[in-house]
Amino acid sequence: MIDRCARTIDYIRVSVTDRCNLRCVYCMPEDGVQWVPHNAVLSYEEILHLCRIFAGLGLSKIKLTGGEPLVRKGMDRLIADLKAIDGIQCVTLTTNGVLLADQLDGLVAAGLDGVNISLDTLDRAQFKAITRRDELDRVLAGLNAALDCPGLNVKINCLPMGSNDDQLAPMVELARERPLSVRFIEVMPIGLGKSLTHRSEEDVRAILERAFGPMTPFHGKLGNGPCHYFSLPGFVGKVGFISALSHQFCGECNRVRLTSEGFLKTCLQYELGVNLKTLLDDGRDDAFIAEAVRQAIYNKPLQHHFADTSGEQALEHHGMSQIGG
Ligand code: SAM
Ligand code: SF4
Repeated sequence: MIDRCARTIDYIRVSVTDRCNLRCVYCMPEDGVQWVPHNAVLSYEEILHLCRIFAGLGLSKIKLTGGEPLVRKGMDRLIADLKAIDGIQCVTLTTNGVLLADQLDGLVAAGLDGVNISLDTLDRAQFKAITRRDELDRVLAGLNAALDCPGLNVKINCLPMGSNDDQLAPMVELARERPLSVRFIEVMPIGLGKSLTHRSEEDVRAILERAFGPMTPFHGKLGNGPCHYFSLPGFVGKVGFISALSHQFCGECNRVRLTSEGFLKTCLQYELGVNLKTLLDDGRDDAFIAEAVRQAIYNKPLQHHFADTSGEQALEHHGMSQIGG
């Protein structure tokens, strides 16, 4: 679908739960958040119903997210059913990796196209400090299992936040001999992310170039989003940057988000969009819901204003675990 700014919107992040088995300091408080009651979370049948409507409007790429998507049972069944929808070309998953090794075979058999594993450090003590859980070994088991899966597109998402500066080069080392993209994502001033040190793309590149020498921009296509990539001499994998603050990419934004409560959110920063669960609960027909989706996407905001600290622009009150990242 094309929005009012002539952007093609073909990608949707679908959050299947607000629950999580980690408590990353930038995302969730130690005690968790007020969980959404089970009956307010979209059922798989409702997710599939909405995704059929999205596919009819040209949204062809789905990223499953959360919370932690793998804490919800039956993800393999959901993936298989999503892949069977006419017009859906690609279904991928973003996960913290803790449950990945246990579930990977089923997910891949269901047709999963790719997996993004969120991992901010390879140091066990640091991992525990960042996630408040001692699960690094299980995440690495998940990563290795994913890398052993032929044809599965594997990426690491890492948030540089100062405390893990010493781990950025070791993380990139993972891509030396394997076809893995290691991507650095600027921390967004949303929820707990507001109080974290922000490392910019330039900061991270300086750290990496000190360790590995100059990086060369890579112009090939890798993935569905705003990440831009670099090659390093002698490396099989690539280094990527998603720099929403220092290199705002709203002009090329191709995405919208569906929260686990069924709200179609059209920009990360704003609470703008349409509550699709209400429309389903009211028994609206598909044509009505499709028109509501079309209008919401058409009116997607031109850009975010995270850099505006006046307070008037930062309208999103939910945390990343509720939005889906
Ligand atoms: N639990 C899964 C995971 O961690 O991949 C999926 C949900 S998580 C909210 C999705 C992504 O959002 C993760 O890569 C996480 O690092 C990122 N994230 C969380 N808070 C963030 C923030 N304030 N700024 C930027 N990214 C953030
Ligand atoms: Fe959980 Fe992902 Fe948020 Fe970490 S970033 S607390 S793993 S939802």
